[in-house]
Amino acid sequence: MLRVDHVTQRFDSGSKTLTVLNDVSFEIEEGTSCAIVGPSGSGKTTLLGLCAGLDRPTEGTVELCGIDLGPLDEDERAEVRNQHVGFVFQTFRLLPTLTAVENVMVPAELRGTSGARPRALDLLERVGLADRSDHYPAQLSGGEQQRVALARAFINTPSILFADEPTGNLDEETAATIEDLLFDLNATSGTTLVLVTHDLELAARTARPLRLQRGQIVEAEAMAAG
Ligand code: ADP
Repeated sequence: MLRVDHVTQRFDSGSKTLTVLNDVSFEIEEGTSCAIVGPSGSGKTTLLGLCAGLDRPTEGTVELCGIDLGPLDEDERAEVRNQHVGFVFQTFRLLPTLTAVENVMVPAELRGTSGARPRALDLLERVGLADRSDHYPAQLSGGEQQRVALARAFINTPSILFADEPTGNLDEETAATIEDLLFDLNATSGTTLVLVTHDLELAARTARPLRLQRGQIVEAEAMAAG
């Protein structure tokens, strides 16, 4: 489902070169869940961006859903995302001028799928927001906005979902509800889940917690050992 092979990412900042990822390799199988943990600045978001084809690595290969992203241009990578990928972000990223149901429909409309509205309403019901479908993001709490974002992420039944600190902006109780929903939707849809978080408990709920440490990936067994 996702194969990261000898990926290195460097950034030039003035006279210095920063190596954020240093020869990272791992594979994630279809339908499973994994978490990438690590402190702020360890390169989690950078890695997620490379996995999702938002950026290109300095060196190495990323294969998503059997497609080598390397030779593809930006438009072609966007098309792969359209067809296969869902996203959830820490800051929800709903479009403020659209209602909840319209936000949920956006990825389906980008893909040209018909029957998006009934499916969007179904998903809003699943996340417990059936009565908020015509509300605008500004009229919803943070937790409610993230539920809308979850419904949006699943509208196209993506092969793989990338979630970047999905509960990072929420209080503990709301975060727990969002986590349960995320794992529930993940389990019932067969979508592969790749979660980025600094929350070790959340990471431990996935099948495979991986830690980013000095630009490299360390498996969970080593994580327990510190
Ligand atoms: P995390 O998600 O773990 O907090 P990031 O992936 O956001 O970490 O960032 C890792 C490091 O790479 C940081 O030091 C950040 O400043 C740097 N970085 C990220 N993107 C860029 C960029 N486009 N240009 C220069 N430096 C960057």
